[in-house]
Amino acid sequence: MEIYKLTVEELLTLFRDGKLKVEEVINVFKERINKIDENVKAFISVLEPDTPEIDAKLSGIPYALKDNILAKGTRTTCASKILENYFSVYDATVTKKLKDSGAILIGKTNLDEFAMGSSTENSAFFTTRNPWDLSRIAGGSSGGSAAAVACREVPFSLGSDTGGSVRLPAAFCGVIGFKPSYGLVSRYGLVAFGSSLDQIGPITHSVRDTALITQLIYGKDPNDSTTVDIELDFLRDIEEGMPGMKFALPKQFLEDTLDDEIANALKKLIKILESNGGKVEEVDIPSLKYVVAVYYIIAPAEASSNLARYDGIKYGLRSKKEDLNSTYISTRGEGFGEEVIRRIMLGTFTLSAAYYDAYFDKAQKVRTIIKNSLNEIFEKYDAIISPTSPVVAPKIGEIKDPLTYYLMDLYTIPANLAGLPAVSIPIDFQNGLPIGIQIMGKRFEDPKVLRIARSVEKALDILDETGHLPVPEF
Ligand code: GLN
Repeated sequence: MEIYKLTVEELLTLFRDGKLKVEEVINVFKERINKIDENVKAFISVLEPDTPEIDAKLSGIPYALKDNILAKGTRTTCASKILENYFSVYDATVTKKLKDSGAILIGKTNLDEFAMGSSTENSAFFTTRNPWDLSRIAGGSSGGSAAAVACREVPFSLGSDTGGSVRLPAAFCGVIGFKPSYGLVSRYGLVAFGSSLDQIGPITHSVRDTALITQLIYGKDPNDSTTVDIELDFLRDIEEGMPGMKFALPKQFLEDTLDDEIANALKKLIKILESNGGKVEEVDIPSLKYVVAVYYIIAPAEASSNLARYDGIKYGLRSKKEDLNSTYISTRGEGFGEEVIRRIMLGTFTLSAAYYDAYFDKAQKVRTIIKNSLNEIFEKYDAIISPTSPVVAPKIGEIKDPLTYYLMDLYTIPANLAGLPAVSIPIDFQNGLPIGIQIMGKRFEDPKVLRIARSVEKALDILDETGHLPVPEF
């Protein structure tokens, strides 16, 4: 038995039956990191884990956090020079919940600076490589978290998803990435990017693990006023299948000619859904045409406001100059990378008095239209299906202009704009590269989304002889 290939649930069973010791498991994953990470470069920091003394739900399970989520005493860099030496002074709510569950944090993972990007090429430190092909990107912005799970350096990790950052890298790396409904998981202790869009979500290699982890991290939190008081059971109905369910496939998602391998993956999904009692129909959602434009006004506007706090006085890097104003200016100029500066400038522009009505205000109105039209779909359908990305993982350095990356987010952004739950799950491999598909559901019907994903997972023909998703060779 290769321990590193086991899911969280399987590890827990072996612990419970006394067949496996926590120390053993920690060593296995530490050795994987030692062996693999100089090639994959998923981690910004690897920690010396303590073994927990508590006996709780996840006791002994190692995991990794995206390096924009605080864990007291660890460096939280956001992959930015401006926070290079910033140490977290408290635990994020998710970190605390996992700690209380007995999970063991063994590292902080790489990302695009402040989670802005789709490739981790925007990290100020290094680019994470795709474990399936080291010359390709792992995706982003949670590229480190997805790559770490893909090569089984950890059994699960957390990422953050503002416009697809959990789902896109999960798709590129052949693992499962879930963005819960807006308001389900507390963002207290997540470094804010776009506050009306950000959610934390798990990356795993089994849908049941996704449900298990979400169950432990969700819930009302007095420290994040956007969290809702709602009781959900993510595992109860997960094996119930999808008889009689109806799935909508927006025709706007098919307009730009899809790469063959993506189109085939979608066909494969439709076949699985239909042969398991589901029904798939094409639907027309005209407002989906505007999702990328709307997102790239709202997200940078919110970012420009959220990132105002990095001024060289309160946090991190300080480039000391004669007077206060020059200190601000040169700290921000030296501390932020190109993409972050681009977003701050875009955001400042669309929020400025002269352009507010034409851009920010209009984008908010279109966002409402998009939200309403998606909600209408859920009156008739159980879920909306799509690819997760229009392409497989590109080569590192291949895409030079930011717009090409922005356009890649078209399938993932709607869930953030409308606060909906969405999961990416691997469906196929083409030329050795994984392809993910997305299932998006009604707000707070997260358990249903995972139940559908579980049914799809059971029907996959890419699982190995032990029923696990395939693991890249190292
Ligand atoms: N690619 C998107 C962006 O660059 C999504 C980022 C995210 O979800 N954090 O903004």
